[in-house]
Amino acid sequence: MHPPLSQASSSPDASMTFSFEPCGDPVAANERAQRLIDPGFGRVFTDHMAMIRFSDAKGWHDARITTRAPIMMDPASSVLHYAQEIFEGMKAYRLADGGTALFRPEANARRFQDSARRMAMPELPESLFLESVERLVRTDQDWIPDSDGGALYLRPFMFASEVFLGVKPSAEYLYMVLASSVGAYFKGGASAVSIWVSQHYTRAAQGGTGAAKCGGNYAASLLAQKEAISQGCDQVVFLDAVERRWVEELGGMNVFFVFEDGSLSTPALTGTILPGITRDSILTLARAQGITVREEPYAIDQWRADAASGKLVEAFACGTAAVVTPIGTVALPEGRFTIGGGEPGAMTLRIRDSLVAIQRGLAPDANGWVHRLD
Ligand SMILES: *Cc1c(COP(=O)(O)O)cnc(C)c1O
Repeated sequence: MHPPLSQASSSPDASMTFSFEPCGDPVAANERAQRLIDPGFGRVFTDHMAMIRFSDAKGWHDARITTRAPIMMDPASSVLHYAQEIFEGMKAYRLADGGTALFRPEANARRFQDSARRMAMPELPESLFLESVERLVRTDQDWIPDSDGGALYLRPFMFASEVFLGVKPSAEYLYMVLASSVGAYFKGGASAVSIWVSQHYTRAAQGGTGAAKCGGNYAASLLAQKEAISQGCDQVVFLDAVERRWVEELGGMNVFFVFEDGSLSTPALTGTILPGITRDSILTLARAQGITVREEPYAIDQWRADAASGKLVEAFACGTAAVVTPIGTVALPEGRFTIGGGEPGAMTLRIRDSLVAIQRGLAPDANGWVHRLD
């Protein structure tokens, strides 16, 4: 799946130097402290950003850490017309010992390359992805909130910047990284969410872009999410596009099921599901703890029947932003059903706690996932 690493490391791009243009007017320390008290999600931004340009003629060039500011954009930039755009989401954490760390950033770098390939975009070498993120976090590490569940959310993204209205892969791209101070994603922390099973809309079909982290997938999911809200639910869950029967994932989170016998299942990565790094981490941790784990299709009818019979005892969604979110209620046009009395389950909370403990440097990191910056 991945290009040979030698390709990246032997390319002159990979040894490019970043220029550093410090922000001339950074947010004052007391004002920053104020903004970090209850940052919410995705509204508080740091003083700097990273950027690297690409053109067919020059390859990767012009890497810099610079002041976060609006960018000048020609209205004919092709991303605005044909949506050639991809992104990543990852977090920098304050460790228990006061250090700073990223969680599995190499996995984000590789997924960014996979997404780029699907969208006919150039693949940013892994070393440049990591360097851009590390430099930005080092520069703005005072923006990591100390609060429980707080982190610096990092948003690497890349879009087609060629000024051209013809339909073709762009000849120019802009890659950027933003950093945003965040608190716990869902207010109330571990309280269970309700989800609406989308009947009319699907997220991805075989051969489509469901496995790529691209903005277009989100644009297409917003109407279904809006419908979920109007049905009194927090989130939408999608079924497969062919049979409208198999549970795939939420708008931006993967889904897991916990059974009475203590086993765990999640839909397999068949090309229509986003390969979550949280999903992969949970599978690895569960297997190491001796939990039986299956990657297999699970039908919505089965889910309802198993919840009723007590065979299914818990369900949860997972992703970088919210980590692990218990699912308490599932809503369909014919009615709702609850899971575990609508309360977060014990296995769900145990899995979340073991993952968070590793991310925060409070538990041994057996898999080498914690990427320290100090
Ligand atoms: C990013 C994303 C996820 C979760 O991936 P993580 O790597 O765990 O954050 C799940 N589903 C979709 C559609 C996503 O975009």
